Amino acid sequence: MFRRGFKTWCETISTEKRRALKIPLTAALDPRLVARDMRIAVRYIEQIPNLEPGTIPQLTVHDSDVWSALTVCHNGKYLIVLNSAHPKTREANTLMHEIAHLIIGHKPARLDITDDGLMILSSYDKQHEDEANWLAAALLLPREALLYARRRGMTVPEAAAHYGCSTALFTMRVQTTGVDVQLRRSKSGR
Ligand SMILES: [Zn+2]
Repeated sequence: MFRRGFKTWCETISTEKRRALKIPLTAALDPRLVARDMRIAVRYIEQIPNLEPGTIPQLTVHDSDVWSALTVCHNGKYLIVLNSAHPKTREANTLMHEIAHLIIGHKPARLDITDDGLMILSSYDKQHEDEANWLAAALLLPREALLYARRRGMTVPEAAAHYGCSTALFTMRVQTTGVDVQLRRSKSGR
């Protein structure tokens, strides 16, 4: 599924980003801080000028389920556009996912602005989506954060709220990192 070493690399990136931004390894990481550090602009769809009339209602009401965010490169600068119609609880993960694509080095969609609005010409493939999902999860929930939440006896909803992610993401990270096994071993002194 992933190339060799990819998962370990994700854990390293998660630690390095927090160190660079002076965020404790056990604390939540605001994706907007990461975006600012990487000079990536983040906007809601309503904040994009020159869209064809009717585009915003189309994207935020009628088609709001089919897209959560997109990343474009325009004039050498990256821009992440968020769907304002989606719940705020999903936004951190959505934004971190888009940032993860850029950290990994995936080439985002090209953006051409024409007289009648905005055209997206390409998008990421399935392998790229899987990689971005994995890195975003590691960025939002480093191993140390999972251990911290478990040691403090946070419930899954409490931990998810604390780190700005879904309960499903928290549970997935607990399972794939094996932190519960690690905690049981350290308690039993092995
Ligand atoms: Zn993606």
